[in-house]
This record gives sequence, C-alpha cells and structure tokens, in this order.
Amino acid sequence: MGSDCLFCRIVAGEIPATVVRETPRTLAFRDIAPKAPVHVLVIPKEHYADVATLAEGDPALAGEVLATAAAVAEDEGLLGDGFRLMFNTGAYGGQEVFHVHGHLFGGAPLGPMLA
Ligand code: C5P
Repeated sequence: MGSDCLFCRIVAGEIPATVVRETPRTLAFRDIAPKAPVHVLVIPKEHYADVATLAEGDPALAGEVLATAAAVAEDEGLLGDGFRLMFNTGAYGGQEVFHVHGHLFGGAPLGPMLA
C-alpha cells in the first residue's frame, strides 16, 4: 500500500515507533496511546486491511502474527496472569487504522471488555 498507510510507513521507518520485536515478516511496537500497562500492536509488514483479509490471503502470515504476539506476551511477563489479543475489524469493530493489527493488552485485570 505504501505512503497512504500509517503502519506501512512505520514498517518503512518513515514514522517513528517503539519496536519491541521484529521478525522477517512481522513487527510489534508500543501503542502511542496505551490503554493498559502493556499495550503493543502486532502487524504483518505486508499490507492487509484487516484480519479477515489477512487470514484469507496468507494464513501462514496470520499465524506468524499470532506467534509474534505470543512472544511479546512472554517477553513482557504476561503469560502467568494472562493477556488479551484483539483485532478491531471494520466500522462496527471500531477499526481506525486499516492495516491489520492485533492489540496485545496486559499488565492489569482488563475486565470483560476494553473499549
Ligand atoms: O484498532 P484501531 O484501528 O482502532 O487502533 C489503532 C491504534 O493505533 C490506536 O490504539 C492508536 O493509538 C494506535 N496508533 C499508534 N501509532 C500511531 C497511530 C495510531 O500506535 N502512529
């Protein structure tokens, strides 16, 4: 997608981000407006608009995104108490950035939902 996509620009190094893990095909970086003590976004470097498009287009890459999220959860010490991994999708899902991203939340009890 490129210059119109915020997260493609983060992947390209054109916009700064606090990267916590990088693999050949995925990137994890801290959300600029954290909603939990740990709030990390996990993305494929390749542009897919949302999780449904990613799962359809490259299921192996979807698995790599999950594996990166799990590795970050371990790095952040979240495996014992647990965490939440959430993919906002489309208008009703509250998605604002249309480059698929998993929100990894943890570090405190999160309650039944996290807006
Ligand atoms: O799931 P949704 O599309 O609503 O989430 C987008 C997320 O991207 C927000 O949590 C926002 O804080 C984050 N963001 C970011 N870095 C940017 C722009 C947005 O972490 N430069």
